[in-house]
Amino acid sequence: MKHCLSFLLMLAVSASVFAQKRIFGDINTDALVAHVGFLASDNLMGRKAGTVHGGAAADYIVSCLRQYGVKPFYDDYRCPFSAYRNERGKAGYWEVNADSVRAMSARCHRRLDMNNVIGYIEGKDTAEYVIIGAHFDHLGTDETLVGDKIYNGADDNASGVAALLEIARNFAASGIKPDRTIIFAFWDGEEIGLLGSRAFAQNFEMSKVKGYINFDMIGRTTYNKTREHVVYFYEKGYEQFRKWQEEYIKEYGLELKPDYRAVSRLKSGGDNATFALYGVPVIWYHTDGHPDYHQPSDHADKIDYQKMKDIAFSAMINLYRMSSKDFFE
Ligand SMILES: [Zn+2]
Repeated sequence: MKHCLSFLLMLAVSASVFAQKRIFGDINTDALVAHVGFLASDNLMGRKAGTVHGGAAADYIVSCLRQYGVKPFYDDYRCPFSAYRNERGKAGYWEVNADSVRAMSARCHRRLDMNNVIGYIEGKDTAEYVIIGAHFDHLGTDETLVGDKIYNGADDNASGVAALLEIARNFAASGIKPDRTIIFAFWDGEEIGLLGSRAFAQNFEMSKVKGYINFDMIGRTTYNKTREHVVYFYEKGYEQFRKWQEEYIKEYGLELKPDYRAVSRLKSGGDNATFALYGVPVIWYHTDGHPDYHQPSDHADKIDYQKMKDIAFSAMINLYRMSSKDFFE
């Protein structure tokens, strides 16, 4: 009887998971091309945190969320925050920690104003959250560079933002009311110290966050790897995260060969580290470094959009399963 029940349960679970493709529709490759093309265009001047161009990237994301019917999580989509550093502090080293900021504000200091963009879909249980995030800021420009002076940041991280926008669009269009509230977070200030995600975490009840998915650079193929290569970091002890991904590849014929890496509270890489610090189980998709990493040559025409599409599709179902109490307590 017990076996029979668990077999039936297994059937029900796999049926409902693999019906997801129909529920969600598809990740639109043209939309990915359009998002990366705009965000990584020279007009955005490298989307440096705290500049008017970083602000333009935030405005673009807001306009997309509004169009999709994804609501702002706070009063406004744009969530302002500030980082501080001592007047003589190390260049590029900014602080958002409330205690450090208080100590600093007694002396001559600098302030940088930024905005996260945060939307959400309300769950049946509004006391539990899953979050999916990507940073939209990049390195800006450098007048002393000879030749191309703009760090376009197509892979880093217009690619992640584009995937996240497509997932948000699909969730809103599906009309699904998830068990847990889903937050779509577009982080500012990542390149100068994970500032956006850290500012968010400081003001959020992080014990209510049951899972976090991160995108940072998901559009390229590194050095001598094949084009199916993607690093799939997942929190050690959460073997279901690996099993889920293996299932999608088989079921949907995705052109991905993940390098599965079980990690324990990974404190490096990107905004994933902020969540690991609070003990939130994390999945992080990353297609690895390449010769254009943090170079002005990180351009949109070098992105593999089919690969991005397969990664975004996997992450969308992972997000749904993380949000569902049937699959993930
Ligand atoms: Zn990045």
